Amino acid sequence: MKIKLSCTAFALALAALPLAATAAGDPFLKAQMIAENLEPVIVHPEQQKAVQEKLAALEKHSGRKPNILILLVDDLGWGDVGAYGGGTAVGAPTPHIDSLASGGLKLTSTYAQPTCTPTRSAMMTGRLPARTGLTRPILTGENPKVNPWASEQTAAGLLSAAGYRTALSGKWHLGEPDGFQPQQVGYDEYLGILSVSSEFSQGLDARLVPNLVLKPERMAALKKVSRSAITAGKRGELAQVLEPIDSIEALAQIDQKFANFSEDFIRRSVKAQKPFYLIHSFSRVHNDNYPAKGYAGKSPAGFPYKDAVVEVDDIVGRLMQTLKDTGQLDNTLVFFTSDNGPSDDLLPDSGYTPFRGGKGSTWEGGVRVPGIAYWPGIISAGRQSDGLFDLMDLFNTSLAVTGNSAKVPKDRYIDGIDQSSFLLSDQGVSNRESVYMYAERQLMAIRWEEFKVHLKVFDVKRAGANLDESLVSSTGMSPWVYNLYVDPKEQVSTGHRNFEWGLPRVVGIAGRHLATFQKYPAKDLGLAKPVQ
Ligand code: CA
Repeated sequence: MKIKLSCTAFALALAALPLAATAAGDPFLKAQMIAENLEPVIVHPEQQKAVQEKLAALEKHSGRKPNILILLVDDLGWGDVGAYGGGTAVGAPTPHIDSLASGGLKLTSTYAQPTCTPTRSAMMTGRLPARTGLTRPILTGENPKVNPWASEQTAAGLLSAAGYRTALSGKWHLGEPDGFQPQQVGYDEYLGILSVSSEFSQGLDARLVPNLVLKPERMAALKKVSRSAITAGKRGELAQVLEPIDSIEALAQIDQKFANFSEDFIRRSVKAQKPFYLIHSFSRVHNDNYPAKGYAGKSPAGFPYKDAVVEVDDIVGRLMQTLKDTGQLDNTLVFFTSDNGPSDDLLPDSGYTPFRGGKGSTWEGGVRVPGIAYWPGIISAGRQSDGLFDLMDLFNTSLAVTGNSAKVPKDRYIDGIDQSSFLLSDQGVSNRESVYMYAERQLMAIRWEEFKVHLKVFDVKRAGANLDESLVSSTGMSPWVYNLYVDPKEQVSTGHRNFEWGLPRVVGIAGRHLATFQKYPAKDLGLAKPVQ
């Protein structure tokens, strides 16, 4: 009888989800609302104060604002990096990335969105894809009916206005048409690809896609909708073709070109005595990987994917050396991460995660990514934390460490949180209470403390089919609950058996979150599937 009563109460609570449920007053919850348009924050005044003092002392000493370098790898798995248990163990050592982890802060609960475009847009705007409308990758020749960038603010744009030199090097994948390009939405400089590696390889590799590459009519049509080239542009200009990507050999070299540009951008910025904000956005290790010159077979594993991991690691080492050479190593916040989990569907051209699922899903394998913050002299070496960090937090954090928190927009909902005090203070703990995991517009799951609560689940019909053959299913009356400390692979839901105490907390958080869409409606770019 007791169980029946509690289940009924729970069902009622779930039914109230879309309403303005509030978690205020719940003694289990720690986050406070600090503004109506901001994600609630766990406030830690002492660590905040300590970091402000640290940054002020550094600026006094260096005489300039700090730089920000975000190293964003495409589709790298949590388990690919040596510091996370991969590296040598999976046939692709990552000594340079590992040294960032050992010399800085290794985060074990960093979360991305399930795919490229959603993560990148969220990281740059501090807003969930469900709000900006950038809910899935934009594919070959697609022109969204609404330009999301016409009404979004990027950290790059806000920092550029504050005197920073800003650049996007490498993969963009946030829209190709006029008005969508990086140098039109806040970046002073751009050199890279506007789409994604696989969009080029599909038109080049006759072994992979013969029914396109070997069919002249289809190839002629492809050339009309897809520009296979490295492009570049300066603020306000339309990007121009720098060089075509017209062979597999040319495609294999693009990350080296991006590294050349990033190195040059850092050197020029330092010479101009300007602080910089640079997103170095690797094309690697997204499919299809072809080894750059000198990299074929360089990894112990010998597969092109693993050679690409080794190349990424070498480029990380090269950019860190550039910071050192220019005297900026101790004046730069470096953040290393991946935009989503490994693409299981593509083995062996994909990475490794110890978690369930992969890219495209909201199981941990799809969204839990490496996250390393490195800043000698500011971040103590050897720190590790399982505190929650969402890549959207890089928006607020970048503004905070550069002294521009006042520029966080007030006219829209911001899902990111200022995590500068978490990352930079010696004993810092996370300011984030929960992480929301979405599939397009659907709230799928919530991470709270060590628990993962699925309101809906990705149902995968066969191994390695997270994108190609999955379903989204509603859970039964009880959400599926996994304690990630005892069941990190999310294998045995312990929903109502030993989390009855916690479910109302998470239901309250979900209700509070969903209610924000009422005052701040989501944008619709027309990216949803045309289904009845
Ligand atoms: Ca990706």
